Amino acid sequence: METAATTSALDTDAPAQMLQVFQQQRTTSQAWRRSTAEERIERLKKLQRWMEVNRNAIHEALYRDFGKPNPETDLTEIYPVQAEIKHAIKHLHDWMKPQKVKTPLQFMGTRSYIQYEPKGVSLIIAPWNYPFNLLLVPLVSCLAAGCTAMLKPSEETPHTSGLLERMVAETYQPHEVALFKGGKEVAQALLKLPFDHIFFTGSPQVGKIIMKAAAENLSSATLELGGKSPAIVDYTTNLKEAAERIAFGKWLNAGQTCIAPDYVLVHERVCEQLVQELRKAINGMYGGEGAQVKESNDYARIINKRHFERLKAALDEAADAGAVVETGGNFDAAQFFVAPTVVTDVPEESSLMQEEIFGPILPIRRYTDLSEAISYVNAKPKPLSLYLFTNRKEVETAVLQRTSAGGVCLNDTAIHYLQPNLPFGGVNWSGIGKAHGHWGFMDFSNQKPVMRQRSGLTSTGTFKPPYSPKIQKFINLMLKYL
Ligand code: NAD
Repeated sequence: METAATTSALDTDAPAQMLQVFQQQRTTSQAWRRSTAEERIERLKKLQRWMEVNRNAIHEALYRDFGKPNPETDLTEIYPVQAEIKHAIKHLHDWMKPQKVKTPLQFMGTRSYIQYEPKGVSLIIAPWNYPFNLLLVPLVSCLAAGCTAMLKPSEETPHTSGLLERMVAETYQPHEVALFKGGKEVAQALLKLPFDHIFFTGSPQVGKIIMKAAAENLSSATLELGGKSPAIVDYTTNLKEAAERIAFGKWLNAGQTCIAPDYVLVHERVCEQLVQELRKAINGMYGGEGAQVKESNDYARIINKRHFERLKAALDEAADAGAVVETGGNFDAAQFFVAPTVVTDVPEESSLMQEEIFGPILPIRRYTDLSEAISYVNAKPKPLSLYLFTNRKEVETAVLQRTSAGGVCLNDTAIHYLQPNLPFGGVNWSGIGKAHGHWGFMDFSNQKPVMRQRSGLTSTGTFKPPYSPKIQKFINLMLKYL
């Protein structure tokens, strides 16, 4: 088998190599415009089979990259990709069918439909926090839509990126799917190419760079970004349940999750109780709290020194300014371990309240009435996810109507990500475009409108010059009634 095009660093001929792969993929993508659902499904099944055979290697790579527990790798890396493949296989015939649309009176005699055409050569750039999932879920949508792909995994997860490189080499030809390892220089070199679509997952800061680069070639772009996702806790909710669900979403992957609750806004009446329930939830999940959590096999580590130090500095800064560490606050630099941490009275100007935390520190902020919580959320950029725990319909309606977020999960956290019939994505600062399932397929497809005119007499043919008084009358009637 021909080996996949890969490059470890941006050497002098890398852009030429990228260009060559790009040109090969362009030829393939033109041929794939005619691809059938069966052919696309076969491409997806190759990936599915590779994952089945290599499950242990996937576990090992993620464990070596950041101590990710195997069950978490199954749940958050393997399952989402497998589920996405199964869903696409089940629905692809339907998604690909041209969709007929109605014909208004003024177009009598014509027929119209939407044809889903593959956009073409795509670039997929992934972050490190779910390095397997976030490169391959978009690839599933890309292949389902009939596009080819050039992939750029994160440089922060060398074991997983190496494994992904092997996957591509063993599963596809470079003119179908190719992978380019490396850091931002590699991403920037790739971004010079005139891709038909770019799918980027990462930070809002880099998202802006991607969008600017996409603009140079007028490439369409899906941006899956991050931000500060709030969890609002009303006093009517079951606090034990709310705490357990917030705890799962927050400390999964040691808080390094784009849809993790970044901070909690809790009604002042139940703040103390919520903190106690969060501590119980931590004990329940990891058999202890603080430094004891280090002994748990079920808790991941921080990806690298830079992020470890960033988190330590953020907590120190808040604590120095009067924040109270309710549980956790333990750091072990030798392991990049940061304990599940709950902190109250965090000053608003501290980086914990200003920047995406992306780690296991959870600030809790009290509110006295709901409007205050809503205003607080609205004063920040629109979040990727918003969580609300309440038993009151009026609270639910008020929050849904008065805030904006990429997605909402009521009375739980993070699980909406896995609902295949919902679009997933952000809004403005937290992202542009929606992914997953049918929405992912649509993102990689040009929704091409096709209108067929009949021969002979047509309604629209009436309106051509010379514009006689009779035609003017028709135009007047159309303006009035159609
Ligand atoms: P990042 O933006 O630093 O990096 C993402 C990718 O972009 C990497 O492959 C990296 O090599 C590349 N990159 C970095 N700088 C670049 C530059 N200047 N030019 C071109 N490419 C560049 O993000 P990260 O630290 O890997 O991941 C964390 C961020 O991703 C968080 O903000 C998180 O919320 C977000 N995220 C979002 C989602 C989502 O689905 N919306 C999922 C996971 C993570």
